[in-house]
Amino acid sequence: MPETKKANCLFCSLQCGLGFEIDQGVPVRIEFDAESPLSRGSLCARGHYNQELLLHPRRFLGATINRRRVPWSTATTKIAGRLSEIRSASGPDSVGVVVGTELSNEDYEAAVAFARDVLGTKNIAVAYDGNDYPFLMGGGAGDAEPTDLDDADCFVLIGDVFWGHPCVAKRVIEARHQSRSNAIYTMNPYRTNTDWFADGHITVAPDAEPVALAAILKGMNAQGAPSVPSGKLAEVSDLTQADVASVASSLKEHKKVVVIATSRLGDSTSAYLTAKLARKLAKAAGGKYAPLFRGGNAIGAFGRVGSDVTVPKIMEGVAAGGIKGLLVFGPDVAQLYPGTVSQDDLEKLELLAASAIFENDMTKHGDVGLPQSVWTEYDGTYSASFGQASKIAAVVDPQGDAKPVSAMLEAIAIELAGSLSRTAAAAEHTELEIDVPAALARIGGVGAGIVLVEGTNPLHRWEGTITGRMTFPQRQKPYCELWVGEGTAARLEIESGTSVALSTDRGETRIIATVTDRMPAGLVAVPSYVPDARGLMVWTVNAGTRWYDVSASGASLKAEG
Ligand code: SF4
Repeated sequence: MPETKKANCLFCSLQCGLGFEIDQGVPVRIEFDAESPLSRGSLCARGHYNQELLLHPRRFLGATINRRRVPWSTATTKIAGRLSEIRSASGPDSVGVVVGTELSNEDYEAAVAFARDVLGTKNIAVAYDGNDYPFLMGGGAGDAEPTDLDDADCFVLIGDVFWGHPCVAKRVIEARHQSRSNAIYTMNPYRTNTDWFADGHITVAPDAEPVALAAILKGMNAQGAPSVPSGKLAEVSDLTQADVASVASSLKEHKKVVVIATSRLGDSTSAYLTAKLARKLAKAAGGKYAPLFRGGNAIGAFGRVGSDVTVPKIMEGVAAGGIKGLLVFGPDVAQLYPGTVSQDDLEKLELLAASAIFENDMTKHGDVGLPQSVWTEYDGTYSASFGQASKIAAVVDPQGDAKPVSAMLEAIAIELAGSLSRTAAAAEHTELEIDVPAALARIGGVGAGIVLVEGTNPLHRWEGTITGRMTFPQRQKPYCELWVGEGTAARLEIESGTSVALSTDRGETRIIATVTDRMPAGLVAVPSYVPDARGLMVWTVNAGTRWYDVSASGASLKAEG
């Protein structure tokens, strides 16, 4: 008889509940979970990929050395031997450990213990996607719980919350319609799906959310609200002083405000300040703050892997030759941060060992590849937005030789040190030193040329990020498009549904354009999860935030002849 086993979706930090119908050990169907405290039976399009993820024919299922299949123990012995040699010759800090954001809390604890106690290296970092890291540094994990959504009478939604995290939409819209006086305010560089439901939409220039938030905080007379330089608000948003006073008084009048903000690619200082000020806004309104992240367990990673060493720092170490051994558990660093690490740099490493669910540039070009279990193949706990800590019990046995990261680390540790003791310790994060007035003054509007902003399409993420290929969007043309405003399209003679050449200082790609009245003049939204489009962006390290700023210089758009 088929049975139903419950699990959670880790494709974003909402961690919606779902069910798997299991027939003779095989997941045959995804089911909704009406008892899930946050999603209450909702599951977005991405959530349905949980089954495909388990059964995908391109899963990476066998350990490899130089891409040749080997027994699991041969691979871990090779890693342990090479680590010993590197540590003896160059010291413990010559090894770096990078973990992804879809691992369990227990995996993170094992990784920290492995780096600290077995290797003795300080170089451990989390490969956050987008600007999850500065977003977490600014506002933390938030204090809203699922039940706060039931009686909220006002929402401030920063970013395209519904598009990136669709399952929160149902709860927000239900709460909004409980009373005519309830309200939703949105803030975004262009009109998104979230804005369809808004009572008031604040248009800001890309990365200018902190200016609008600071102005509203000032309007509320909130303690410690940063000053906005004169003229800046008009330069970067459509808010007038009267609008600011109206939003500020509305937030004060409503009894239960929930501020929800979502992380995206862009300027990392702006992401940090957006989170900081969004949290402050929730507090000033006597409400709750809920940040939503791209990484399913970004909150768990942040709470356990604490260090001033971030991925940019480790990649600098790889490029400079100080890091000679690199262990990567989960992410395809080359695809996540295009152009930040070169093939030559990776080839200089004396050891590159990588685990992944699908073969990627790390496992392909590494010395050793280890197949990694999906979160629904092993028991683990995970920390979600809205304060839930959920346990996922394995719904199926791991496929092939796939194993959880903690089991990999244990096997390597036993060869190196005899054991791996996992002592959980809360992570420490040193506060960032950001000159807030200078950062607000630096934020500018959209100039005369073309400005690329991230267009978030959840389907791009999972077909693209999991498999490293874009087979689904390439078949489904409408999902792989850029958005351009009507005025800009007319100026450049671009028609909807036609191919355009999009280029930046980093290269050129061809993509289908959709002309829409949602985009303000000069702004072009690109599907950033398409590797080609992502690779057109420039990823530069911001010393202040210790993270990547993602921008595109020299952007231009041409109709294809
Ligand atoms: S909203 Fe996020 S957690 Fe929920 S089903 Fe979609 S991707 Fe998964």
